[in-house]
Amino acid sequence: MKKTSETIISLNNINKSFPLELGGEQQVLFDINFTIKSGEFVAIMGPSGSGKSTCMNIIGALDTASSGVYELYGRDVTGLTTDELAVVRNEYIGFVFQQFNLLPKRSVLDNVMLPLMYRGLPMSERIERAREMLKRVGLENFESYLPTQLSGGMKQRVAIARALAGNPKLILADEPTGALDSKMGNEILKFFKKLNEDLGITIVMITHEFDIAKYANRLIHVRDGRINYDGKIPKDDRGL
Ligand code: ADP
Ligand code: MG
Repeated sequence: MKKTSETIISLNNINKSFPLELGGEQQVLFDINFTIKSGEFVAIMGPSGSGKSTCMNIIGALDTASSGVYELYGRDVTGLTTDELAVVRNEYIGFVFQQFNLLPKRSVLDNVMLPLMYRGLPMSERIERAREMLKRVGLENFESYLPTQLSGGMKQRVAIARALAGNPKLILADEPTGALDSKMGNEILKFFKKLNEDLGITIVMITHEFDIAKYANRLIHVRDGRINYDGKIPKDDRGL
């Protein structure tokens, strides 16, 4: 796989505040700065409440920063409208969430076909592509099952197949093993590793556990909305 070093994610002095119900606001991210290059596998780690998901929502164009500049593939995402953000997401990003976010009443195949809905592909090609993705995650015999009939690990594999169906350059995974036992979790992490190494897909994975972050090649550690470490995976998590 050809390795390029194109910068695909660039956060410049990103701040994020949420309004508080009783007035005023709570600042959650403070002057966040980092860039991520194509082909990286990065773990964003920090304790619960440290701002990881808020950060991922900004990276994933699900939310915008309160101030600062965010560029995705060289495009300034900061001022885009909701519709424009949706286009950016659909074009570049595959999402994987802790709770899988599958449609419970739709078949596995329908779920995987979802990101292809807006691509203007004929139905036969959508089905073919979705089947290919299910094969890739080892679930080719489960296409007519409902998500509720599958184990957690299998559900997450369906979610990964769905993320891959849109042919994303970037996968954003928020606590992807958080609802899985460690055996299923490890399988998912190894699969991410393979996607990164074999297909060159950039992966940004959020976790609160060092043992999970270790699967990545780079660690960005946040505490109270500030980065306190950014570099190679350290030997252990003392000092983070
Ligand atoms: P993490 O993913 O690291 O657990 P989050 O980014 O989810 O942390 O949350 C960080 C802080 O921001 C928390 O105090 C949380 O309550 C607050 N927060 C997150 N999202 C919102 C929101 N939509 N509205 C108000 N506060 C929020
Ligand atoms: Mg979170």
